[in-house]
Amino acid sequence: NVRVRFAPSPTGALHIGGLRTALYNYLYARKQEGTFVLRIEDTDQKRYVPGAEEYIREALKWAGITPDEGPEIGGDFGPYRQSERQDIYRKYTQHLVDSGHAYYAFDTEEELDRRRETEKEQGNHNFRYDASTRGDMRNGISLSKEETDGLIDGGTPYVVRLRVDPGQMIHIQDTVRGDVAFRSEEVDDKVLMKADGLPTYHLANVVDDHLMKISHVIRGEEWLPSTALHVLLYRAFGWEKTMPAFAHLPLLLKPNGKGKLSKRDGQALGFPVFPLDWNGGEEKLTGFREAGFLPQAMTNFLAFLGWNPGTEQEIFSLTELVEAFDLDRINKSGAQYDFEKAKWYNQQYLIGTPDEALAPAVSEVFARHGHGLTPDRATRIAQLLKERVHTLPEFYEQGRYFCERVGITDEKMARKKWKPELRPTFEQLRERLATVKHWKAPDIKAATVAFMEETGLGFGAVLPILRLAVSGTTNGPDAFAILETIGKEETLARLPKGFD
Ligand code: GLU
Repeated sequence: NVRVRFAPSPTGALHIGGLRTALYNYLYARKQEGTFVLRIEDTDQKRYVPGAEEYIREALKWAGITPDEGPEIGGDFGPYRQSERQDIYRKYTQHLVDSGHAYYAFDTEEELDRRRETEKEQGNHNFRYDASTRGDMRNGISLSKEETDGLIDGGTPYVVRLRVDPGQMIHIQDTVRGDVAFRSEEVDDKVLMKADGLPTYHLANVVDDHLMKISHVIRGEEWLPSTALHVLLYRAFGWEKTMPAFAHLPLLLKPNGKGKLSKRDGQALGFPVFPLDWNGGEEKLTGFREAGFLPQAMTNFLAFLGWNPGTEQEIFSLTELVEAFDLDRINKSGAQYDFEKAKWYNQQYLIGTPDEALAPAVSEVFARHGHGLTPDRATRIAQLLKERVHTLPEFYEQGRYFCERVGITDEKMARKKWKPELRPTFEQLRERLATVKHWKAPDIKAATVAFMEETGLGFGAVLPILRLAVSGTTNGPDAFAILETIGKEETLARLPKGFD
C-alpha cells in the first residue's frame, strides 16, 4: 500500500524545486494507486510566513496536483499540520528519553558558542555535539538524575538531544542513488526538542512519516545527509522494520549547468509558481502563472527535470505521465534548469489547445491592457498567433495592433518599402477595399488581388505596405486574416496612415 507525502515548510513561495517534488510524489501515488498526503511542516516559528500554506495549496491546485489527505481535506492520519501535533511529539520525545536514546541538555547558546570557538582555535572547524563532547549534560559537566530533575523543575531551559552512539554503520538503500553509507560518527547529537518545547524538523518528520504510514519518502537530494540521522531515529524508536523507502531527487542546476539553482536565478526567469505579493512585496518575482505558463506545460516540463521515459516522446499529459512514471527512471545526475525549454513546452501546449479554449485567456490578457474582446475575436486572435507565441502575455505583445494603432514599429522596413509616390496607389486600394461587402479574409484577398492585376503591382510591392499600415510591421500571421480581425472600418482608417 503506497503512501507518499509532500511535506513543505510554509516559509515562503513554492518554487519549482518544491513543485517538482510534489509532482513526483503525486505521479508515484497515482501510478501505484496509492495515497498522496500533504503535510505542513510548520514547527519552525522563526521561519514561518503567514499565507505561505494557502499559497502552497493554491499552487498545487493550479498545477493539478491534488492531495488525497491534508490540512483542508482531512484523512485518517491527521492533523496534517505539525503545529497541531505537539502533544504527539512530546510523547515520543519522552519515549526516547525514557529508553535512554535521548537526553536533556542544558547548554546555553553562549556556552555552545564558546565551545565552538575553543575548538576552532584548536583547528577544528566542525564542532560536533556528540559522544566526544557530550556531557550528561550541562556545559560539559555530568549531571545526576536528581540534578537534571532539579534543573527542569527550577525552570532552566533545556533541549532534548538524540544520543548517537559511535561505531555504527548506517546504510540507506536509496532508490535513486543506490547504497549510501554513513558512519554514526558523522552524525552529531541532534536536537530533537527545542527549548520552546517544539520539535525540530528531524523528530517531527520521522514521527509523522511513521504514524502516517508513509511507504516512500521522495524528496530533494539536499535531505540525503539528514537521512542518516532519520535512520538512527527509526532505530531508536524500534521502527526500523517499517522504515519507508527513500528516493532522493537530483539537484536542480543553474541554466548554465554550473552550480545549484538558487532563488536569485529566478528573478529574470519566473521562478516561483506565483509572485510573492502577499509577502509584503518584499521579494518581487514573477511567477510562472503570471508569466503566462499553462499548468500542463509546467508539469510536463518539471517531470523531465530529473526523470525521463526512456523514449523520444516529450509531450505528456498529466495522465500520460502517471502511466509512464517510475522511480527507477529518475536520474542520479543534476538536472539543468532550462527556461527556454519551459517556454518550448508552453508553446507546444498553446498550439495543442483548441482556439476556443484559449480564447478566455487571450481575452484576459487583452483586458489587462484595457481592451475588451468578443469571444469570436479572442478565438480568432488565439488561432492567428498561437504558433508564434510562447506565453500568454505575448498574445498582447505581438497582437496589440488588433486593438490599437501602434504606428510603425518596423522603421527599417517602412523606409525600404514606402515611397511618397505610392500614396495615390494606396488611396485607390483603400477605395477598393471599401467596396468589400463581406469582410472576410478570402473576400479581402480577392479584392486585393484584382487590384494588383489592374495596377500591375506584385504581392511584394503591396503586401508589406498593407501590413505596415495596419500592424506596423511586416511580420505576423496571414495579412488578410489580420485585416479581417482588425475590422473594416478600422482598416480603412489606418490605410495608408503613418507614411507621411
Ligand atoms: N519540511 C521539509 C521541507 O521543507 C521536508 C523535507 C522532507 O520531505 O523530508 O522540504
